[in-house]
Amino acid sequence: MNSASEPLVLRAAWLLDGSGGDAVGDAALWVEDGRIVWAGPAAVLPEQAADLRSLDLPGCTLLPGMVDTHVHLVASAGPELAADIPKTEAERVLAAVANARRHLDQGVTLVRDLGAPAGEAIALARAVEARTVEGPRIVAAGPAITMTGGHIPYLGRVTDGVEGMRAAVRANLQLGARCIKVVATGGVLTPGLDPSKAAYTQPELDALVDEAHRLGLRVAAHAIGGDGVVAALRAGVDSVEHGMILDQAGVEQLGASDARYTPTFCAAEGIIEGPSAPAWIKQRARPAGAALVASFGAAVAAGARVAAGTDAGTPDNPHGRVAQEAAFMVKAGLDPRSAIRALTAEAADLLDEPDRGQLRPGAVADVLAVGGDPLTDITALQHPAAVFQAGHRVR
Ligand SMILES: [Zn+2]
Repeated sequence: MNSASEPLVLRAAWLLDGSGGDAVGDAALWVEDGRIVWAGPAAVLPEQAADLRSLDLPGCTLLPGMVDTHVHLVASAGPELAADIPKTEAERVLAAVANARRHLDQGVTLVRDLGAPAGEAIALARAVEARTVEGPRIVAAGPAITMTGGHIPYLGRVTDGVEGMRAAVRANLQLGARCIKVVATGGVLTPGLDPSKAAYTQPELDALVDEAHRLGLRVAAHAIGGDGVVAALRAGVDSVEHGMILDQAGVEQLGASDARYTPTFCAAEGIIEGPSAPAWIKQRARPAGAALVASFGAAVAAGARVAAGTDAGTPDNPHGRVAQEAAFMVKAGLDPRSAIRALTAEAADLLDEPDRGQLRPGAVADVLAVGGDPLTDITALQHPAAVFQAGHRVR
């Protein structure tokens, strides 16, 4: 694949630019050199574009390539996450390559990998950027930072103490991480500490966030419920992952903060409703699953900024399903415009990728065409008709 793409005009029934506004009807999108030149109603397409090669997508909606802000590329949705991670680094990289392709096939052009044993997703991010492997653009955290006795040690760097936190952030920086993942509460998939109990102390979280931000890295906090959510927000994390059992303090803090809230409906659904997860995991997940819709509704009502992430790779939660995450959000009461914004502009902004997630002049031409109108039927997002990455058609 060469890096320059031929100029192209896409024509479709509707266009949603990702900002959360109204659809443009009878739309055109002019793409050149991998970037968007112009987007709007076909009737006022600039004259210079009239003779360019064009592709008609009748009955389709154009929107930005979707973003999944929470995936584990080394994991493949098997019954138990710990056993599902391949034992050698070589096998983990191969799993990640296959899983990355699944995202792209479904119209997901940008993902954030929030935990791998070592530098697997970081290496894959570089290979995608160099165009040696096909996949979505990847913003990788490297190993998740988790305490002794904490959640997902097998995807993480076990770290304790204030000074340990700063050292762990620096070690991930050295590995090539573009963001930091910290495990701030217990988890559903790991026995031991309760998912609504805080893992780290406030001084530990404060030190981690301070060090990460000082070095230009954003922080995602695994925080299912209780004091851990509040402590993570107080420390200044950039996103709360899961947040399934929010108490009043958590709701208020999320509403008042600029941090994004990533409810990971797909993860809860896969574990609780799927056939695979063992009974002990289902049992740990049930209280979180039962509280999730109410937590989400309260956070949205309080003004929380929502981003779409699936936690792909966890039990019965295969890669490439972020469109389904948007459908879960709508089912839980979010309006479709906001759900689409949560998996495009809002998500790209969280990942510090301002050139992506919106169809506007100058943005990278990561474009998805889906059959139908997702504002009337959000499940239209699950039926990609064409996927473009930096102007190249990849599906
Ligand atoms: Zn996760």
